Amino acid sequence: MKKSKRIKKDEKILTTFIKVYCEQNHIKNGQKEFKNGLCQECYELLEYAKRKNEKCPLDPKPQCKHCKIHCYSPKMRQKIKEVMKFSGIYMIKHGRLDMIFHYFF
Ligand code: SF4
Ligand SMILES: [Zn+2]
Repeated sequence: MKKSKRIKKDEKILTTFIKVYCEQNHIKNGQKEFKNGLCQECYELLEYAKRKNEKCPLDPKPQCKHCKIHCYSPKMRQKIKEVMKFSGIYMIKHGRLDMIFHYFF
């Protein structure tokens, strides 16, 4: 897959997973929307993850969970792991098996 195409595809996956997480854990509980349907914390996490994805030094890029570099800061890595786990389970429950293959972290 061409690099630019890979980046776009991964961005879509990151956006979908973070959106589900934020909707179910933050927006639904009254947290204020900051931008694009996300609260500020999740918006910042998405921007961070997109930046890392774009600047990934590995080509071909492995799934981050199989990566030996781990370019995320420990705090952000913890956050994205939690998001991926929650949204992965949420999507299994809601029949979105197509998304599960993209489990990132
Ligand atoms: S964690 Fe590894 S695979 Fe993921 S973006 Fe960073 S360097 Fe690339
Ligand atoms: Zn949120």
